[in-house]
Amino acid sequence: MTTVTFIFHDYLRQLLKKELPAASAFLHHFDRRASIKDVIESLGIPHPVIGSLIVNGQEVGFNYILLDNDAVEVTPLTPPVNLFIPTILRPEALGKITFIVDVNAGRLALFLRMLGFDTMYGNDIRNGRLAEIAQSQNRILLTRDTTILKRKIIMHGYLLREQNPNRQLVEVVRLYDLSSKIKPLSRCIPCNGLLVPISKEVIMDRLKPLTKKYYHTFHICEECRKIYWPGSHQEKINDFIDDILESVRQDHFVDG
Ligand SMILES: [Zn+2]
Repeated sequence: MTTVTFIFHDYLRQLLKKELPAASAFLHHFDRRASIKDVIESLGIPHPVIGSLIVNGQEVGFNYILLDNDAVEVTPLTPPVNLFIPTILRPEALGKITFIVDVNAGRLALFLRMLGFDTMYGNDIRNGRLAEIAQSQNRILLTRDTTILKRKIIMHGYLLREQNPNRQLVEVVRLYDLSSKIKPLSRCIPCNGLLVPISKEVIMDRLKPLTKKYYHTFHICEECRKIYWPGSHQEKINDFIDDILESVRQDHFVDG
């Protein structure tokens, strides 16, 4: 029998299985040879949300095999998470930040595209495919589902704590420190394609008379050919982004 002392920090305590002790530190017994990752996931916490693992004062990786009397401290991902730097838990750093969003957070996907982030999303992507795409394309998986985050192949992922899409956006922008990386209106919101400038003459026949009269600069989606031009909706988007950035600066999560 192996006995380990666990301390889970911050919001990780809310993710622990209900039958576990409510105290911040507790003893856990198990009778098999097991990695720290497997034992922590069996307690309810998906590995992608873990920021660091400390055993007897030393940082360890997910494959560390737990020994009798080990004292383990588990800390969640805490902003700002820098994915460009390799860590003990995630030795393969990302070259760029791209997302794949679970169907349970569809509005968030559209908001991320509005801010210019490459974001895959689709009602038709089932759970298994979601994890495979996240792995093969090095995308960060955003979801409210702990089960999918426990899949072994997920390297970078996050369990959204908020339910409201605006609050989820604030959560993600703050976590990955994205405020300075926002490029409004650089990506097509319905399809995720990139927007490129196009001259008015080329698309003249697709414009309504008033648009033709009052607007002179246009962009087109490389994928679906949807046309974009600066209008009142662009001001609304800019106001929305200002509000999000203000919340990112001000808000702090309250851990209960
Ligand atoms: Zn498009």
